[in-house]
Amino acid sequence: MSLIVQKFGGTSVRDAERVMNVARIVTDTFAQGNDVVVVVSAQGDTTDDLIAKAEEINPKASRREKDMLLAAGEQISIALLAMAIEKLGYHATSLLGWQAGFETSSAHTSARIRRVNVERIREALDKKNIVVVAGFQGISRRGDITTLGRGGSDTSAVAIAAAMHADLCQIYTDVEGVYTADPRKVENAKKLKEISYDEMLELATLGAQVLNNRSVEMAKKYSIELEVLSSLAKASGTIVKEKTKMEKMLISGVAKDTDVARISVIGVPNIPGIAFKMFSKLSAKDINVDIILQSIGHDGKKDISFTVAKSRGKEAVAALEDYMVSHGAKEVLYDDEVAKISIVGAGMESHAGVATKMFEALYDAQINIQMISTSEIKVSVLIDINDADKAVKAIHSKFFD
Ligand code: ADP
Ligand code: ASP
Ligand code: MG
Repeated sequence: MSLIVQKFGGTSVRDAERVMNVARIVTDTFAQGNDVVVVVSAQGDTTDDLIAKAEEINPKASRREKDMLLAAGEQISIALLAMAIEKLGYHATSLLGWQAGFETSSAHTSARIRRVNVERIREALDKKNIVVVAGFQGISRRGDITTLGRGGSDTSAVAIAAAMHADLCQIYTDVEGVYTADPRKVENAKKLKEISYDEMLELATLGAQVLNNRSVEMAKKYSIELEVLSSLAKASGTIVKEKTKMEKMLISGVAKDTDVARISVIGVPNIPGIAFKMFSKLSAKDINVDIILQSIGHDGKKDISFTVAKSRGKEAVAALEDYMVSHGAKEVLYDDEVAKISIVGAGMESHAGVATKMFEALYDAQINIQMISTSEIKVSVLIDINDADKAVKAIHSKFFD
């Protein structure tokens, strides 16, 4: 007998028919003699709808209240799925995050899981129940409901798999696995049989929505192999694990991130300490900076550009504007009509010319590059947001056609 954790995302539980579909998958797994813990997300666009409701009433609502609201989405899903399982003649117990033992930090709307006390889940499994857990949520030490950040149900599933030493952790979604690019945007994207944690972590961080990056981080930390597969089609999915058989692929995928804004501080004095002072202002506000570009100084002045998440963009400008101008800068420019396109692959460590190939694809498509950043296994470029989809297609066909 094995312990299997199965996670189903929003589209997989969108309506009654889909909930029944999920109930059949989990009861089949149970009927084969396994213990089953199911983690579910809110139905369809529920989380977006709840966010819109909050915006309508108070765009500046506190994060605590946002969490109180958002956690409701998953509560609906667990109850409905438990009812569907009962209808098929099996026993089910639904548990909210706190009931399932999810203790988190108190960073509302992006809380981190501290530990999972799995006794309650174990008890229910021992009584031959299928356990249905609300993803994306937990409870802080103060006893307040928290959420883990968008896409957080993946992390809930991996956390349970880790805490219970599960034999298998399956992430069911609305595509058949992890592809070389978003299969909804790039027609000839190829499904990967397997991908390493490191590559998957980069892809997830750089915009491939299919797995939440924290879930991959946690899977790597606890050596949990993940299987990403479709809840709708019976097909083999993608295995995410430490080492993959070396396939002859230069890169494993192309990702797009449109949650980026570029800030340029123009004409700052070309003297020591300027970058330090500038970025201290941002770190004091917990604003993460991504790509940084500094021009060569001329006439005693230089320009420094960098990117931040769009959601923090205006705040970053506000933190810098007066301060930098009082330190001699000419102006602070802001542009959130940009996108970050990245290629990821362990192959580029041992092969020259991978970045060049990417730049050639962009040149062929006549797309201008605004910024570039690289690491051992990735190359990212910042471009105009209107060119984003075209760029992904051009780069993908350069490497995979
Ligand atoms: P769920 O609701 O199941 O959590 P998500 O919407 O969060 O599903 O993630 C699945 C979506 O991720 C797919 O529908 C697909 O459009 C998108 N996606 C982006 N990049 C990739 C990729 N490289 N491989 C697979 N899917 C991707
Ligand atoms: N329902 C949450 C969201 O939409 C969590 C998840 O789907 O993983 O972000
Ligand atoms: Mg998701």
